Amino acid sequence: MFSGFCDFIASAGLQATMVRADINMQAILETRSFDLWYGAFQALIGVSLSVEPRAITAIIGPSGCGKSTLVRVFNRMNDGIRGVRISGEALLDGRSIYDKAIDLRLLRKRVGMVFQRPNPFPLSVFENVAYGPRIHGLSHGDLDARVEMGLRQTGLWDTLKDRLNSSALSLALEQQQRICISRLLAVEPEVLLMDEPTSALDPIATARIEELLLELKKSYTIVIVTHNMQQAARISDYTAFMLLGELVEVGETQTMFTLQSDPRTEQYISGRFG
Ligand code: ADP
Ligand code: MG
Repeated sequence: MFSGFCDFIASAGLQATMVRADINMQAILETRSFDLWYGAFQALIGVSLSVEPRAITAIIGPSGCGKSTLVRVFNRMNDGIRGVRISGEALLDGRSIYDKAIDLRLLRKRVGMVFQRPNPFPLSVFENVAYGPRIHGLSHGDLDARVEMGLRQTGLWDTLKDRLNSSALSLALEQQQRICISRLLAVEPEVLLMDEPTSALDPIATARIEELLLELKKSYTIVIVTHNMQQAARISDYTAFMLLGELVEVGETQTMFTLQSDPRTEQYISGRFG
């Protein structure tokens, strides 16, 4: 997590107060001096971030600072947007995500994404969860078992096992979001990218989804965008703070919320802007 951080600290000429001993840790996701432009507008500026496996990394920062853009880099969801240009490196397990030879479908199987508003298809519960395995060519084996596995991991199986044919859209929002997570888990991904996954949910549903994420991080790497700092403080192991397209600071969440290296982080965390 910290090599990119060291580069940032060095380039910013700041004291490396947050650098710790685990520099040898193998990052599962990484960007190095990564830039992204939407046409003439630069939305990511020299972002160097390392993401530790089987942990929750929260990306925080005010609206428009590039959080969604950054997480979309990791499964190339920005590709479809006209006028997008990039430079720098983005790596999954040390291999370039933007390599011409990369299999995009396989990348998106390994690195799945959950969005702000639950977006189940207007299909049955079963078909929603089966969709992932089907598009990734994993439906030849025991599809029922995959669907069950996906629903079990999000705590939905016992509630829905007798209603697998009912419409996913008839479920409460929290359950819809769990369905979307189940759809990803059914293809056995490695990384879950979550862009404000609880922002459409009430506080009780939010708390339950947070509990689910703490359970899932035992098996998966989670990168969560949140504009809710308390959420980052509650569930994340690492926090990255962005401002105007730059990664200002990244570190262990506990440290970040008590001892900031950069005055802008301190100002944001203490609620002075954003
Ligand atoms: P955040 O998720 O932190 O709110 P975004 O990553 O969505 O920020 O956006 C970062 C910046 O890039 C914003 O200024 C936004 O207006 C701009 N932006 C986002 N998507 C596009 C797009 N498709 N075309 C042009 N500009 C965009
Ligand atoms: Mg966003």
